[in-house]
Amino acid sequence: MRRTVKVNNEVLKRMRMIYYPKGYEYIDWMGFWITEENKPSYHHIEKAEDLRKDNKNDEATIENGAYLGKKSHELLHRIEVYDKDLYDSWNYIFKVINKMRCYPIDSVWNVIYDLKIQSMKYLDKYINQLKL
Ligand SMILES: [Zn+2]
Repeated sequence: MRRTVKVNNEVLKRMRMIYYPKGYEYIDWMGFWITEENKPSYHHIEKAEDLRKDNKNDEATIENGAYLGKKSHELLHRIEVYDKDLYDSWNYIFKVINKMRCYPIDSVWNVIYDLKIQSMKYLDKYINQLKL
């Protein structure tokens, strides 16, 4: 049986309560396993720097958050550098999940897995330790 990975961050704790029924909290919003090596981390959907530019609150909020493993998150920001369209697609689906305020429905998972397949080419040796 999988062991639930501890979350210390309050916003992530609350996000886990909103988005994950018990027993489903092992997979992040990019479709990767949450493990000790891929601990939950918080991604700003709207970048903190852009929020600051518009004089908006740049703190981590549930409304602007995506629930990603640490390594999946690194992969996402690598994609941001190499493939802006794919990066934007990820943020779009994060917004959809965020708006729905529940565990992703199957049609959302289908999009996630499609984006995940497109993202695989940006894995490297380090990020490759992700359990797929
Ligand atoms: Zn991020």
